[in-house]
Order: sequence, then C-alpha cells, then structure tokens
Amino acid sequence: MVSILNEPQPPHSLDLVIDFVNTLDVEEGTDSIERPKMLAAWLAERELLGHGEPVSEGDHSGAIRLREALRALMLTNNGRPGDDGAVRELERVARHGELGVHFEPTGTVSLAPAAAGTAGALARLLVPVASALADDSWRRVKACRAPDCNWAFYDRSRNRSGVWCDMAVCGNRTKVRTYRENAPRERR
Ligand SMILES: [Zn+2]
Repeated sequence: MVSILNEPQPPHSLDLVIDFVNTLDVEEGTDSIERPKMLAAWLAERELLGHGEPVSEGDHSGAIRLREALRALMLTNNGRPGDDGAVRELERVARHGELGVHFEPTGTVSLAPAAAGTAGALARLLVPVASALADDSWRRVKACRAPDCNWAFYDRSRNRSGVWCDMAVCGNRTKVRTYRENAPRERR
C-alpha cells in the first residue's frame, strides 16, 4: 500500500509486519490471506517465499495465529495488559523457522531463519520485530484501540501517545459513542 502522506517508512522494515497484521480488516470483515493459496501469494509478492511454493493448511493456521499474536502485542503497546500467549506464539514461530544469529567475519550480526518454505518465511517476519524490540521502536507499533478496528499503525507522535489509527475516524467515533453512553437520559 502506498502511503498518501509523505512520511518516511518506519524503521527495520516494520511496515512488512504492519501490513501482515492488516491483512485482516476487522472493520470490513475481509481477510486477504484467508486461504493457504492467498497466503502463498502474499508471501511470494514480498519475496519471503518462492513463487509457486505451496503453503500447507497447518502452516496457514500457524500464520493466522502469528498474525493475531502480533496484533495482541500491538494492543499491549497501546495500553492493554501484556499477553503471555502472544509471546509464546512468537517463540514457536521462531523455533519452527529455525531463526538464528549469524555472525559475519566483517563484524556484523544478523538474524535469519534456516528453515525453508513457509516456516522460514513466517520466522522472517519476526526479524523486524526483534530489531525494533532491541532499540525500543517496537513500542510505537500499535493496533488501534477501537475494538471494531484494531488496525495496525506506526505511532509517529512525539511522545508516543497515539491511540487511534486515525483520530478523525476512530478517535471521534469512539468519543461520540462514549458521550452517548454517558449522557444523562432526557427527562420527560
Ligand atoms: Zn482505528
């Protein structure tokens, strides 16, 4: 997706992780990786998987669990209590994809999955997460607090106080709802 705002990309290719979480549009009820074939195409488009490489049913359900675990962690970045299940899920994907540390003779270090196929592709999605956790930029990766939205976004506010994916849409909608719920009943 091309941003209409002239903003730089978030660091560590976090937009890849954000796009992955946003394959489910909670508000519209649409899922662009609903079937294994759709997931294979999504991963191939991003060069995480070879074109024509299949995704099994098991790998597909693993991907959906990973997506929702990432969303849960993004909600934690937006004020929700921490989620043990979500971090366990990330560890499972990392193990399954044989995510390991690679030391280069030039003195650099990187994370990369040793597993091929979907297991490796899913583990590769965790590389930006690990890099962002290391420098704290992960805390800016949030899921919108509106329960009927949960859209993933990178919070660019100066003091990291962003709560809504779009203040004009979710922020105002939620405010109006809270106002209605709390408004005193009219007297007759
Ligand atoms: Zn929203």
